[in-house]
Amino acid sequence: MRIWKTKNGSEIFRVSAGRSNVYLISTPRGNILVDTGWKYSFDGLRKNIRAMALSKPVSLLILTHTHFDHCYNAAMIRQLENCKIVISEQDATFTRNGYTPIPAGTLSVTRILSHIGKMIGKKWFGYPPFNPDQVIKEEPDLSTEEYGIKIISTPGHSPGSISLIIDNEIAIVGDAMLGIFFNSIFPPFADDVNEMIRSWGKLLKMDCRLFLPGHGGAVTRELLQREYEKYSRKQDILSLIQ
Ligand SMILES: [Zn+2]
Repeated sequence: MRIWKTKNGSEIFRVSAGRSNVYLISTPRGNILVDTGWKYSFDGLRKNIRAMALSKPVSLLILTHTHFDHCYNAAMIRQLENCKIVISEQDATFTRNGYTPIPAGTLSVTRILSHIGKMIGKKWFGYPPFNPDQVIKEEPDLSTEEYGIKIISTPGHSPGSISLIIDNEIAIVGDAMLGIFFNSIFPPFADDVNEMIRSWGKLLKMDCRLFLPGHGGAVTRELLQREYEKYSRKQDILSLIQ
């Protein structure tokens, strides 16, 4: 299991790394789970959390966004851990119905996949519906400040995507970027690419040195900076010729 530590004593465990990453933030004040993976990761996730023999319960489940591969097990985890589910206000409109629209593709192949996905819709990409216990409306949201965590909105991959800033050192960013490739963080799916790049800029304004994505390994500040500059330039050129 991968672990990252902050100077303030928070530890971030990657408790599941199947199709999507699930993180557990263990702070001196308590434990927070971030995302839940898809249905096939439920048993492994439950086992891994149990094996950690946490001295304090998991009090919050924060979802970076509510695509099926991140929130499928949310309702079950809440029942199991008796925790509160926290999501963005925009996502609350979807979770009550158990389906959050598939994001648009950013490459020609994923544009086709997204189109097919949207046609299939809830049947494959739905999840057990749930009502959140808390919605994030303001930004930055400081309701988790006692844990050393600040929540900011980082839209682009989806309109309601949020990121967690832990002790101003490490960020958990959902699908705002991808950690699969060596020198690229550009996600294959995003509803609004311009907005996503602006969110990268917003994340860079934080003092974080590492960015933990929903898929793949950690992204360094240097790589994010490089990608931000490259894609901002591209967008500037595109806006000039449009
Ligand atoms: Zn997603």
